Amino acid sequence: MENPTVFGKIIRRELPADIVYEDEEFIAFKDIRPRSKVHILVCPKEYIPTLAHYPETEEGALKLGRLMLTANKVARLLGLEGYFLRIHVGEKGGQEVFHVHVHLRSDA
Ligand code: 5GP
Repeated sequence: MENPTVFGKIIRRELPADIVYEDEEFIAFKDIRPRSKVHILVCPKEYIPTLAHYPETEEGALKLGRLMLTANKVARLLGLEGYFLRIHVGEKGGQEVFHVHVHLRSDA
């Protein structure tokens, strides 16, 4: 199924974004409404609505592990010495865009 979210549109280049990192599996771009000095969103290109949709399988663990490693890699590429990662899960968890993403933020 095609990813109908704004992040799907960014991945398909139908919407502009300030992309700071991209590889075959992931993309990272600046949040349009930054709430820290550095505020990046790291997403898999595969359409996965929320963190809760990752299957509890070896494959799910590897995909999720690579997402976190990619957030670390982006932080390193941006030269961040300290940062925090945040994931909203579901509407009641504060999630607005239903394509899984990690907020990578730093005020350091
Ligand atoms: P959530 O609350 O779903 O975890 O976070 C969604 C984030 O996406 C918000 O911080 C919001 O500012 C950001 N966002 C929403 N629409 C766009 C957009 O079109 N472009 C970019 N770069 N960020 C967006």
